[in-house]
Amino acid sequence: IERDALLRKKHGIHISGHNVPSPLKDFSELSSRYGCKSYLLRNLAEFGYKEPTPIQRQAISVLLSGRECFACAPTGSGKTLAFLCPILMKLKHGSKDGIRAVIICPTRELAAQTTRECKKLAKGKKFYIKLMTKELARSGNFEKMPCDILVSTPLRIRFSMRKKKLDLSRVEYLVLDESDKLFELGFMRQIDSVVKACSNPSIIRSLFSATLPDSVEELARTIMHDAVRIIVGRKNS
Ligand code: ADP
Ligand code: MG
Repeated sequence: IERDALLRKKHGIHISGHNVPSPLKDFSELSSRYGCKSYLLRNLAEFGYKEPTPIQRQAISVLLSGRECFACAPTGSGKTLAFLCPILMKLKHGSKDGIRAVIICPTRELAAQTTRECKKLAKGKKFYIKLMTKELARSGNFEKMPCDILVSTPLRIRFSMRKKKLDLSRVEYLVLDESDKLFELGFMRQIDSVVKACSNPSIIRSLFSATLPDSVEELARTIMHDAVRIIVGRKNS
């Protein structure tokens, strides 16, 4: 416990919530503590990532322990890997049983970039990772198309839910990335309907952001259970 506190202090990690899992000391703990497969460690090494960033140290262990979290860390601090890595580890491998993870990004560019990163991180392992393009939203048949991880903007996933009766009832991981932007851009109604459609009782939701305004904090508190709050640096920098 004391060791955890020291490690958090060293990396400027602030937490609230009870029984918060220990932060990662290094990437090798992904395998020693959580049974991470070799393809993923290989990809991290290939990217040249030597050490987890502060937000990765804490958010990865929280999500791998099955806890929900809302996390605030500056732009450029590695939040994408903080949610992609636990999702790939928990899903283990591709399946054809429907959508198991949904990542919502505020813009199409960010959604495309997140999809690319996810595919790079999954290299060497069969996963079905899909970006919700305009065409997919309009005419994609998700009942026939294997999709483990779906990355979308709020408008496109909402459109597809209406038009194609997108089934989100098996989703195990829901990520709201850049949630401060999702709020600023006025996507709350869409987010709300996605959250409701993800009806799997054992879902793990997480929320990532560069700032943590009261609106985002309130959203986190209404949709999550027993969530861990993680702040790296300052809350509104
Ligand atoms: P954020 O979402 O917090 O703004 P990103 O996830 O986009 O940040 O990451 C910013 C940059 O840091 C990316 O170029 C990414 O490849 C790099 N990065 C992520 N994790 C690490 C790491 N552990 N070590 C070195 N670089 C990293
Ligand atoms: Mg980001």
